[in-house]
Amino acid sequence: MAKDPRPWRGLYKTAAWLRLAKAQKEREPLCATCLMLGRANDGSLTGAGTPQEDRRRRYVVADHKIPHRGDKALFFDPDNLQTLCPDHHDRDKQIEERRGYSERRGPDGWPIDPRHPANQ
Ligand SMILES: [Zn+2]
Repeated sequence: MAKDPRPWRGLYKTAAWLRLAKAQKEREPLCATCLMLGRANDGSLTGAGTPQEDRRRRYVVADHKIPHRGDKALFFDPDNLQTLCPDHHDRDKQIEERRGYSERRGPDGWPIDPRHPANQ
């Protein structure tokens, strides 16, 4: 049997996560990356700022800033969450999977992922 590459997926079905994700989206209903680009996107825009024509992509997600990879402390840490639109969420995840670390930076401009080469 093939090994599940994401054995932590069940965490996303827990009541604690659903509550946390809901609270995050209530606290910050706009995509954090779109905000940095000067746009207020509650899911009605694409990552490029044009109207989101695809109804199935009209939402925002609660995203982990530092990838948790099953680490429950990181997974359930409200300070490790940000709101993203689907375009920015997908783009960041692809970069992370290709490189093996996140390029996201904290307010001081320094990469927040402990696996980032700058933190090695
Ligand atoms: Zn966005």
